[in-house]
Amino acid sequence: MGSGGSHTHVRSCIGCGKKAQKSELLRIVRTEQGMVYDPTGRKPGRGAYVCSMACLEKASQGKKLERALKSGVSQKDLEILGREIAQAASMVE
Ligand SMILES: [Zn+2]
Repeated sequence: MGSGGSHTHVRSCIGCGKKAQKSELLRIVRTEQGMVYDPTGRKPGRGAYVCSMACLEKASQGKKLERALKSGVSQKDLEILGREIAQAASMVE
């Protein structure tokens, strides 16, 4: 799905540092309910971008995710995120 418009929003993956279009990265947002995967990229809150689940795990282990979100990230948060992302990925297919 290529979207039109000349404005591009490039973000870096906090796991590997790769730069990519915002739409190609997975946005993780910290909400009052905890960490959530934000497929729309529009949820309010402090967000971080990763390019894959592997990078999400890497970023969380290296504390990069915690720093990006300015919040502690628990194993449970990661499990929930992993499930949400896997579910979203399977819906795209
Ligand atoms: Zn990455």
